[in-house]
Amino acid sequence: MSALKLHQVSKSYDTGPQRLEVLREVSLELAPGAALAITGPSGSGKSTLLHIVGTLDEPTSGRVTIDGVEPHAMSEPELARFRNDAIGFVFQEHHLLPQYTVLENVLVPTVVSRRGRDGAAERARELLDRVGLGARLEHRPAELSGGERQRVAVARALINHPRLLLCDEPTGSLDGPTAEKVGALLFDLHRAEGNVLVVVTHSRELAGRFERRAELRDGRCYEA
Ligand code: ADP
Ligand code: MG
Repeated sequence: MSALKLHQVSKSYDTGPQRLEVLREVSLELAPGAALAITGPSGSGKSTLLHIVGTLDEPTSGRVTIDGVEPHAMSEPELARFRNDAIGFVFQEHHLLPQYTVLENVLVPTVVSRRGRDGAAERARELLDRVGLGARLEHRPAELSGGERQRVAVARALINHPRLLLCDEPTGSLDGPTAEKVGALLFDLHRAEGNVLVVVTHSRELAGRFERRAELRDGRCYEA
């Protein structure tokens, strides 16, 4: 069974005078443990596609299946739970909560998780160790560098053992060497955790690590 399947996913907006077709029948299939990099010009629908896969947005038509289930067919509360447990997100901005410590930020997704909070603090510490921040647990986000904040965001995305790790330009706000480190880290953790990784990126260096690469152009998805 495929871990992630998109079947003729289309997305359009009716806001302006004419219909804007952002995605046109995008089909993709990823096996468990696979990694896919998505590239494409600005405005080509990369974020839209990632949001649809991440169940933050709905397709206009087509189907998304994650481990055989169709999240878009779930009720809103069911979907919220599914999203929190099965999907990890890393965005261009870290979206850490400024009033919380590093450790607390990583624990946020465990509060509502079906897994419960048993062992959550231990898992958070272990992940923070793996991203090189084991000595910064009690710091606030403002006390960290941009790269360090993004590493906290990566640990937070992984806390609930998501089957799917979705990253939207995760290194887009970082300088070259820092971006490379965070990219390598994402990739290593994906390997170690055995999740499916989908990363939208402008970085050739990062895309080059992936066994599968797709490009969005004119709403269509072309796999290299
Ligand atoms: P990318 O991430 O590749 O830069 P996006 O997925 O953010 O592109 O956007 C793709 C296109 O969809 C853009 O033309 C954008 O303006 C349009 N778009 C995104 N969200 C909306 C929305 N809610 N309403 C209307 N148009 C939108
Ligand atoms: Mg985008």
